[in-house]
Amino acid sequence: MNKRSLQPTPFIDDMSHPYVHVATGESAYDNTRQVLSQINLAVVKGKRVLLKPNAGRIATADSGITTNPQVVAAAIDAFLEAGASVAVGESPITGVKTMEAFEATGIASVARDRNCPLIDMDARQPIHVIIEDGVALQSLKVCPEVLEHDVVVSIPVMKTHMHTVVTLAVKNMKGCLWRRTKVDLHMLAPIKDLNDKPLNIAIADTASVLRPHLSIIDGTTGMEGLGPSAGQAKKLDLVVAGIDPLAVDAVACSLMGLNAEDVPHLRICAERGYGVIDISKIQVNPARWHDFISPFDPPPDNLSIQFPGITILDEMSCSACQSTVLMLLKRYRGQVFDFFSRQENATIAIGKGHQSIPRGTLCIGNCTAQYKKQGVFVPGCPPVATQILEMISENEPEETPGDLIE
Ligand code: SF4
Repeated sequence: MNKRSLQPTPFIDDMSHPYVHVATGESAYDNTRQVLSQINLAVVKGKRVLLKPNAGRIATADSGITTNPQVVAAAIDAFLEAGASVAVGESPITGVKTMEAFEATGIASVARDRNCPLIDMDARQPIHVIIEDGVALQSLKVCPEVLEHDVVVSIPVMKTHMHTVVTLAVKNMKGCLWRRTKVDLHMLAPIKDLNDKPLNIAIADTASVLRPHLSIIDGTTGMEGLGPSAGQAKKLDLVVAGIDPLAVDAVACSLMGLNAEDVPHLRICAERGYGVIDISKIQVNPARWHDFISPFDPPPDNLSIQFPGITILDEMSCSACQSTVLMLLKRYRGQVFDFFSRQENATIAIGKGHQSIPRGTLCIGNCTAQYKKQGVFVPGCPPVATQILEMISENEPEETPGDLIE
């Protein structure tokens, strides 16, 4: 087991009053170059820089799901001009192949044009890292490239998130965890005497060893509502950057009409002293940055509200299964209603934290396997929507009404 965290930062900032830079305009490339021009990149000369965008899903940038390739292109150019060697790496969500995601986002194309290597960070074996300050986690399996590079740059999309309120520079580093171990953060039991969800505590634990050296938030097209993958794209045409990832996230939250104090993982990180989220202590350029605030629709508290007539029982699922359910209901709602019209209740279950599940439930994903006799069970981690369709067209739910199993 390794005690390493990231390499020491070469960047200098005012730790108690960090700088954050915002640029707006029609060109994502120009906005990125503008914010980076205000940061002294000369310190990366001769160093190895790893860019970590959000390319965790098969999606194009205009969806608001993945990082705009022009933001990545501008970052590659800026660091190359500063004399660094640059690579782009990702470890996507379960079921997505890294190189396919890079192609879909357009990041592969801009990287090829610049002879910039793309790294499938799941390809090699992980490095086991001890989290000495960990509360929910005591260790992590980290993709090796993250610890081997001198500088790691987090380049997320500005998005709301069903479980974590937002997903920005700090949360984007979860994509540095090796393969399926990302899912482990969604599977943690509640922590005694702590009110915060274990997922949020685990993200803060991850940040104790994996805080990026520099953060560039792509607000070209963000996502509001049912983020991180099923919300509405929201065009903002801005980019935010800085050295303190907490401060960068806090300014992004403000631009989204949110208060970073209300984002549990950011609040916990700030309480532990990992960075500054108090907007009054952050030096934001330009001074008129408030003009760019454009409130995002928050994620709904409960998925069922979004789909009247269907109760979604979600206990400790991860976003992979949520995305599957949302995709299913968005694309094939008719077939799902047809299936449930044969029974009294329309109930779908995802996640591993259920104490009981009503009979007749559509149980989605391996986490619900123990309830497979309650209705129709679709295995997979996660299963895809078409797999679920096949299962429900082949299966008639049992007629037995309603009692629960423990
Ligand atoms: S079955 Fe679904 S909720 Fe469970 S670990 Fe897999 S993706 Fe996550």
